[in-house]
Amino acid sequence: SKIKDMSAEVVDNNPYSRLMALQRMGVVENYERIRDYSVAIVGIGGVGSVAAEMLTRCGIGRLLLYDYDTVELANMNRLFFRPEQVGMTKTDAAVQTLSGINPDVVLESYSLNITTVKGFETFLASLKAQSSHERSTGVNLVLSCVDNYEARMVVNQACNELGQTWMESGVSEDAVSGHIQLLVPGETACFACAPPLVVASGVDERTLKREGVCAASLPTTMGVVAGLLVQNALKYLLNFGQVSRYLGYNSLKDYFPAMEMRPNPQCSNPACVLRQKEYMESKPARDAAAKTK
Ligand code: ATP
Ligand code: ZN
Repeated sequence: SKIKDMSAEVVDNNPYSRLMALQRMGVVENYERIRDYSVAIVGIGGVGSVAAEMLTRCGIGRLLLYDYDTVELANMNRLFFRPEQVGMTKTDAAVQTLSGINPDVVLESYSLNITTVKGFETFLASLKAQSSHERSTGVNLVLSCVDNYEARMVVNQACNELGQTWMESGVSEDAVSGHIQLLVPGETACFACAPPLVVASGVDERTLKREGVCAASLPTTMGVVAGLLVQNALKYLLNFGQVSRYLGYNSLKDYFPAMEMRPNPQCSNPACVLRQKEYMESKPARDAAAKTK
């Protein structure tokens, strides 16, 4: 593969040479593995589109893109989409741009609403496709880049059902703060474990948008949140550094609050409670495995 050719010390015009340097410098053990990974991105708006571009430039194997919307002129204060793409579905416009940037990435476009019965079915089926075992998915990570509570709860439901690790992201309606969060079913709090507005108020009240409010948006805040999200996605996939559990971003103070949220045994989501039980039951095996390391 193109990546493999770059194990030599030379720096040439290969787009992967600077990425393979991460391996030579000891940051990443095996960068080439990125070709084997699939990432699903739900919401190809201000954060999701930029996250998709970053993963594409990093040489991710496969990207599954979900969004129900079309590109509008009002989106031009964000990064990624261009005026000539107005009217196209966001997922098709994204595939157009991303395939031009890196033709090695396998791109799947799903223009659908994940909160409808049919949309949810297609969403679940696409996550399960290409999986090697019965109760596993064909993707390594799901990134939620949607802008509303209902869609987040649906991603939460799908990931709890499938035992799928995912990362949630958000930008506040006043556009000056945001957050990312890692959700590992059974191990960390799920999106339903703690009422998100209560959780958010402890860190940042306005990290989640309200319905029917004309929200502000800035390409800067969205770019920072997309960068934090993909940086942690890379750490998770390529197994380097520490993956953030919850990381807030307050741009007015350049303050980054970090915290950890444990699962709630009384969570209202039955699939979450099931995953918590499995996680507890597998604890002895995990402890034993950790000891032999
Ligand atoms: P604005 O807030 O100005 O309307 P936006 O709708 O593009 O902009 P962003 O925060 O930039 O919002 O991106 C969120 C993305 O998530 C949007 O592209 C939106 O279409 C998508 N999205 C939200 N809910 C769903 C859903 N249920 N199914 C599929 N995509 C969704
Ligand atoms: Zn839960």
